[in-house]
Amino acid sequence: MNKVLIITGGSRGIGAATAKLAAERGYAVCVNYLQNRSAADSVVSAITRSGGQAIALAADVASESDVIRLFETAEKELGPLTALVNNAGILEQQMKLENMSAARLNRVFATNITGCFLCAREAVRRMSTKRGGSGGVIVNVSSFASRLGSPGEYVDYAASKGAVDSMTIGLAKEVAEEGIRVNAVRPGFIYTEIHARGGEPNRVERVKELVPMKRGGTAIEVANAIMWLLSDEASYINGAFIDVTGGR
Ligand code: NAP
Repeated sequence: MNKVLIITGGSRGIGAATAKLAAERGYAVCVNYLQNRSAADSVVSAITRSGGQAIALAADVASESDVIRLFETAEKELGPLTALVNNAGILEQQMKLENMSAARLNRVFATNITGCFLCAREAVRRMSTKRGGSGGVIVNVSSFASRLGSPGEYVDYAASKGAVDSMTIGLAKEVAEEGIRVNAVRPGFIYTEIHARGGEPNRVERVKELVPMKRGGTAIEVANAIMWLLSDEASYINGAFIDVTGGR
């Protein structure tokens, strides 16, 4: 059976690195993105230039109708889904909780929590052996922030990743008998553009001394852990977390 992967937020950062690695490992890849079409197109071009198969699809994971269209289109173009990487995630300007508006909280929770749940739902509906599917694998991209809480920066973001952790544990048990494994990676400080969105593009340089290995991580180092969880080498791993944090 062909391996077909949807990766949300596959246009940049950890998602882009994972999309390219997955294509190298033989997956047909749907590169989802929100708005940066040129970034998504360049990931797809890199994959197709190397002989792989990929498409780019715009969809806001926080929108139920977008998510449904994303999964329907991906399956129509690439075939039955075998893997989902729930990677799309946002944070906002660093601030203390006492200054956070409801609008901000709703944006962060809608993308990071609702988006993750909606995509998992669509994946389960297609993969579940109880629904006529052939099974599959889901990897959620959480964050080590779920353990540390991100005080003074983005407690909302950290809490959203706490929800992703709980969902990983619950869903893994819920669908274990239906041929689906659900696991998560929890990256630490990784060099991507997400930190600019929080108002501090060089954040990893500032905080890297907190890491026992005294450096930030790269997107490909996270992608390697995601790909292992997707692979058959992890066939008895379910409801588990890999911390990609340099030992923090
Ligand atoms: P990034 O470089 O900022 O890339 C974010 C990706 O998500 C982009 O592809 C973006 O699409 C997409 N995206 C954002 N909102 C979306 C939405 N509503 N619907 C669909 N796609 C959306 O982020 P990153 O650092 O690679 O982070 C990827 C994941 O790792 C996130 O879940 C993040 O929380 C987690 N993480 C990152 C770090 C770190 O240090 N970097 C640490 C721990 C966890 P566009 O290109 O169209 O904007």
